[in-house]
This record gives sequence, C-alpha cells and structure tokens, in this order.
Amino acid sequence: MKPQVIIIGRPNVGKSTLFNRLVGKKLALVDDQPGVTRDRRMGDATLAGLEFTVIDTAGWEDEDPETLPGRMRKQTEVSVEGADAALFVIDARAGVTPLDEEIARWLRTQDVPVVAVANKAEGRAGDAGLFEAFALGFGEPVALSAEHGEGVADLFDALWPLI
Ligand code: GDP
Ligand code: MG
Repeated sequence: MKPQVIIIGRPNVGKSTLFNRLVGKKLALVDDQPGVTRDRRMGDATLAGLEFTVIDTAGWEDEDPETLPGRMRKQTEVSVEGADAALFVIDARAGVTPLDEEIARWLRTQDVPVVAVANKAEGRAGDAGLFEAFALGFGEPVALSAEHGEGVADLFDALWPLI
C-alpha cells in the first residue's frame, strides 16, 4: 500500500488546489466559497517521483458534531488516524488565524508527522505569514503556491523523509 498523506487546514487556504496539483487532475472541487469540499477525496499523487495517496479534507469548522460542518470536522479527525503524514496548510497572505492555532493544537495531539505549508506565497506576498507559521511549532514551514506551482521542490524535501 502507498503511504497516505492527508491535507488539513481551515477553509479557503488552498487545500483542494494543492490536492489537484499533486494528483494532476481536476478531481477536487476548488471554489472561492469556503467549505466547498463536502467530503474527503483521495487520489494518486506523484511528487518528483515520490508516490503516495493524497487525501483532501473538508473545511475545518468549529461546529456541533450534529451539524454538517461538525460532521465534516469529525471526518477529518477520523481520516488522520491512518495517515503517514499531514500537510497542514495555512494562507500565508492571511497569516496565522485563531482557527489555524486551534487546528495546530489538535494536530499536536495526533500521532502523525506534520509539515506546515504556507500557501499563496507566490511573489513575496506571503513573507509575513511564512514567518508566523514558524510559531505553529511544526518546524520550518514550506512556502508554497499551489496555484502557480512554486515551492513544490521544497514540499518534496519536507515530505520524503516522513513517508
Ligand atoms: P480549500 O477550501 O482549502 O480547499 O481552498 P481551495 O483550493 O478551494 O482554494 C480557495 C481559493 O484560494 C481559490 O480561490 C483558489 O484559487 C485560491 N488559491 C489556492 N491556492 C492558491 C495560491 O497558491 N495562491 C493564490 N493567490 N490563491 C490560491
Ligand atoms: Mg477544498
């Protein structure tokens, strides 16, 4: 079985865009509206010859488990259990938000290696957010532009030792 890599993060940070880039097909729904990914999607990913199964997750909502956002969050929590590594995506332009910090706290309780990914970092627009992402406590964050394909080599460097 291939290693499993799960993409985690709050809505609208570019998780599905990253999933699509790794899978190379338009499998995940990308939308400007937060929370558009309504369930988990799995795909075969290739990153510079590294092969793994990648899982795109629904947006993280701080909601009751009886509600749809709450159940989506639950699904995210369940699927991290079988994952060999997690890509924790933040929006480098927005910086680290309280919800990012909540997700970081939860991820630290999980038995999975985490790579912090500061997405939307094309140009220099994400520099401040990249710096903030260090404080999340998952080591050196990877500056990435999932949309423009920048930082993919750095993502490989961070991921290959873990899987
Ligand atoms: P998700 O909710 O985390 O799955 O986020 P999506 O992948 O649906 O993307 C949310 C929005 O961010 C969309 O408008 C994307 O086009 C945009 N986006 C994703 N990646 C990047 C990036 O690297 N740079 C910029 N500027 N925008 C991005
Ligand atoms: Mg999505």
